[in-house]
Amino acid sequence: MQKMKLIVAVLWSVFAASGAFDLFGESEKFSDLPSLIPVNFGPNYNHDAVSRSIASWKPGSGRNIWELSGLREGDIMDSADKGRNVIIDPKNNWPNNTMVYRLMSGMTSKEKMVVKEAMELIMQGSCMKFRPYRHGDRDYVYIQYNDTGCWSLVGRQGGAQPVNLQRDACFIPGPVAHELLHAAGFEHQHSAPDRDDYVYINYTNIEEADYDQFEKLSANEYSEMGVGYDYDSLMHYSRSAFSKNGEDTIIPYEDVEIGQQEYVSDKDYRKLNVKYNCFYDADDDSGAHHSEWHHEGTGGSSPHNSEHGNTGHNNGNNHAGGNANGGILTNMFG
Ligand SMILES: [Zn+2]
Repeated sequence: MQKMKLIVAVLWSVFAASGAFDLFGESEKFSDLPSLIPVNFGPNYNHDAVSRSIASWKPGSGRNIWELSGLREGDIMDSADKGRNVIIDPKNNWPNNTMVYRLMSGMTSKEKMVVKEAMELIMQGSCMKFRPYRHGDRDYVYIQYNDTGCWSLVGRQGGAQPVNLQRDACFIPGPVAHELLHAAGFEHQHSAPDRDDYVYINYTNIEEADYDQFEKLSANEYSEMGVGYDYDSLMHYSRSAFSKNGEDTIIPYEDVEIGQQEYVSDKDYRKLNVKYNCFYDADDDSGAHHSEWHHEGTGGSSPHNSEHGNTGHNNGNNHAGGNANGGILTNMFG
């Protein structure tokens, strides 16, 4: 994995140095500022306190950085118009399983590299694709760094929806992938309707004011996509999430780790592929090199988005379980 990262980094620096390769495509060519959909931090949000808490987060602290963002379940931003945005309806999927993104100008190349790595993490085992904003796109994720916290709205909202990555804190591939998975339409694993079968929530270690961070969602609001509960999910909270005393708040009934923020789990990939109607065709007549992702074109439609014409067939450079041939670059920018 380190070697792979090195290769990608070297390739990137060669391309960047040559000027022949624009890392984020057209995203930054547009000087017009996006009109972002209004978001709601809530009445008691303390930007200074959250900003400090996020900035002082350390790996190995036993908490995930996004849990500190001060919003509903830590990092779920609600829309000021629509309120709570818990979305499982396919109409809020990204059309053609392609999330359109736009980067706030002024992002450093290091920050861009992290965003790219996060997208790569998601693409490695799924059919999800990302493409830079083009003039005329109406629905897209606007990746900004100028606000407090690491947060996202859930699912495609319609319009320009912000994903915030607090500078000098949230630019870590796993946490960025976590936020992008929210934008793809995923909620936190611990809010699954059936979570009490898998974890014990120890309220004695939670401030009463934070009880609502552990609310379960209904079956109308949450789907396991037929894949089931996943302790290993990138969307699972840590053991001491919202602890008032450092003691465990979420205790798995099995002897497992929870709260990893390094990678997208196997079940995360499967859920993503179910949600976006994708299947991996490894059984190819002419050999494994032609295996590819297929997409059955029911994964959402948009009255806004300029990209239509789903052929039901994605140009599958994504190979499950890793991409050893530099196809990442093709996927990202092709
Ligand atoms: Zn989250």
